Amino acid sequence: MNILVVEDEAGIRQTVVEYLGYLGHEVHQAADGQEAFDLIQDGLRPDIIISDIQMPRICGARMLAMIRVRLGLKIPVIFISGGCPEHKEREIREMDAPIHRKPFSLRAVPALIEREMSRQAA
Ligand SMILES: [Mg+2]
Repeated sequence: MNILVVEDEAGIRQTVVEYLGYLGHEVHQAADGQEAFDLIQDGLRPDIIISDIQMPRICGARMLAMIRVRLGLKIPVIFISGGCPEHKEREIREMDAPIHRKPFSLRAVPALIEREMSRQAA
C-alpha cells in the first residue's frame, strides 16, 4: 500500500515511517498539514493517510478539509492524536475520519489501516 504519514514530531514520524516500510508499504512523509497538502496537490495519491492533529501551519482537521473540499479527494485518513480542541475533533468526525488516542502501540497501526480500508470499501 502507498501510505502518507503526517506528524510534526520527527522522532515519532520516523518510527512510524520505518515500521510501515519494514512491513513492505511504500511510505511517504510530511512534517505538517501544509507539507502533506502540497504533496497531494503535486500528484501524490496515497491509499491512506495517517496523521497527527496538532501540527504547525496547517493542522490535521484543516488538512483533511482542504483535501476533501479543495482537491475533491476522498483519500481515507486516520488520525492519531494526543488530544486537541473539541471543535477540531468534531470537525474531523463530521468528515467521517476516525481518531485514535496517543499513546498508541505501533503494532496496532496495521489493524487500524485494515479496519479503515474495509470500512471505506463497504
Ligand atoms: Mg503534533
